[in-house]
Amino acid sequence: MASNVSELTTYMAYLNGEWKKSSSGETIAIQSPYLRETIGYVQAVTQDEVDEAITAAHAAQKDWAELTLSERGAYLDQWADELVKNNEEIAKAVMQEVGKGFKDAQKEVVRTADLIRYTVQEALHMHGESLKGDGFPGGDQKKIGIVERAPLGVVLAIAPFNYPVNLAASKIAPALMTGNAVIFKPATQGSISGIKMIEALDKTGLPKGLLSLTTGRGSVIGDYLVEHKGISMISFTGGSATGRHLSKQTAMIPLVLELGGKDPALVCDDADMDVAVKSIINGAFSYSGQRCTAIKRVLVNEKVADELVSRLKAEIEKLTVGSPETDSTIVPLIDDKSADFVQGLIDDALAKKATLVIGNERKKNLIYPTLLDNVSEDMDIAWIEPFGPVLPVIRVKSDEEAIEIANKSEFGLQASIFSQDIDRALAVARQVEAGTVQINGRTERGPDHFPFLGVKSSGMGVQGIHHSLLSMSRERVTVLNLK
Ligand code: NAP
Repeated sequence: MASNVSELTTYMAYLNGEWKKSSSGETIAIQSPYLRETIGYVQAVTQDEVDEAITAAHAAQKDWAELTLSERGAYLDQWADELVKNNEEIAKAVMQEVGKGFKDAQKEVVRTADLIRYTVQEALHMHGESLKGDGFPGGDQKKIGIVERAPLGVVLAIAPFNYPVNLAASKIAPALMTGNAVIFKPATQGSISGIKMIEALDKTGLPKGLLSLTTGRGSVIGDYLVEHKGISMISFTGGSATGRHLSKQTAMIPLVLELGGKDPALVCDDADMDVAVKSIINGAFSYSGQRCTAIKRVLVNEKVADELVSRLKAEIEKLTVGSPETDSTIVPLIDDKSADFVQGLIDDALAKKATLVIGNERKKNLIYPTLLDNVSEDMDIAWIEPFGPVLPVIRVKSDEEAIEIANKSEFGLQASIFSQDIDRALAVARQVEAGTVQINGRTERGPDHFPFLGVKSSGMGVQGIHHSLLSMSRERVTVLNLK
C-alpha cells in the first residue's frame, strides 16, 4: 500500500466555504511515520487568510444561531452518516498519516459518528431553568429569571495528532450544535485526516464560512490564531507545554485544555492479577502508548511485584510489532524525534540502574515494547510522559506510598487502581489527584458522554459531550419584572 509519488495529492485549505490553495504559495509535506515517505501536501495558510476566515465565521454564525436546534442537528447527523459512508477512505488517511492500525482507525471513525449523533441528541434534550425572585430574602415573586444558553461566537478548535478525527469532532460538533462558528486547526501531522473529515461535513451543504480549516504549523499560525481578537473560545487538546503556552497567550477568553498525562496503575497486594495484567498491557501499549490516557507508570506493592512483572513480560512477548497496515499493536512512533525522546528516557533509566525486563530494541522510529523494573524517583521515566511503548515499574511498600508517588507527578489525567476490596480501592481512589480514577480497568478516554478532565498540568475545564456543550455556550439570563 506504499504511496506512489506520481499520485501525491496537494490538499486544499477550506476557507470561507471553498477549497483553495493558500496565497502563501507554500505547502507542507506530510510524512507517513511508517512508510517513511511523503504521502501528500497541505496548504500553509497565511495570517491574512486567518483574518478572512474569522470575519466570514462571524458573519455566518449570526444566521446559524437563528436556526432551530433540530435544523442544526440535521446537518450534524448527515455529517455522521457521511463519515460512516467514507469510513474506509478516512481510516486509510488516519493509518497512513499517523500510523494507527487500520482497524483502530476505522473504529475511530465509527466512534466519531456516534459522538456526533449523541451530541445532537444531548443538545436537543438540554433545557434551561426559570427562577423566582422570592427565592432570596426580601425578593419579589413578580421577578422571574429565565436562564437559557447562548453561543459564544467563533470557537477555535485545535486538535492533536493521535486521534485526528475523534478529538477534532469532539470540539466541532458541540461548538456547532450550540450555535457557534468554528475555526479548525488540525495537528499538522493529522491534517489530511482533518481535511477528509471536513470534506464529509462540506457534503452536508453547511453554510459558507461557518467552518474554516486552517492548515499550517502551530509554531507559525498557532499564536496568531490563539491571540486573535475574533476568537471567542478555545478548545485545545495537545501537550502540556503547548497548553501552558496557550494559556499565557490568551486573555479573558474561555479556554478548555486537555493535556498530557503520566497515568499511574496502582496495583495493590490483593489485586486480581488477570485483570491487572490485561488492563495494564492494553492500557500501556495500544497504539504504541501514543494515547493521552495510556498507563505510563506502574506502582506495585512489593509483595506481588515479582508476579506482576513476570506476567507483564510474558504478555509483552506476545505483542505484535510492525505495520499499522497489519494492525500491529506496536507501530512506528509519529516521527524520529519522538523515538529519540523515548530512547533518551530508556537510556537515562538504564544508566541509573533500572532493570531492563524486555525491550530496548529500536529500528528507526519503531521502538519495541520496553518494560523497566526497579525504577526509582531519580529517573526521568518516573515523571516524564514518553508517548511511546515504554513502561516503568516502581515497587512500593504500601498503598500510602503508592498514593504519595502518584500525587508527586505534575500530571493528573487519570489513574487505575487494582484491588479486589472495593472499600480499599475507593479509599485509594479518593486520595489520588486525577480527573478520573478507574477501578479495576484501564485508563481511557470515554465512553464519550462521561465527563473527561485533567487536573494540575493535565488540563483545565471539562470535556465529555454534555460538558463540551456547556463550555461552548454561556448562560443568557432574562429577567421579567411583572406588574
Ligand atoms: P502538541 O504538539 O501540543 O500539538 C497539539 C496541537 O497544537 C497541534 O494542532 C499543534 O499544531 C498545535 N500547536 C502547536 N503549537 C501551537 C501554538 N503555538 N499555538 C496554537 N497551536 C499550536 O501535541 P501532539 O504532539 O499533537 O499530541 C500529543 C500530546 O497531546 C501528548 O502530550 C498527549 O498526552 C496530549 N493529548 C492529550 C489528550 C487529552 O485529552 N488530555 C488527548 C490526546 C493527546 P502543529 O501540529 O502544527 O504543531
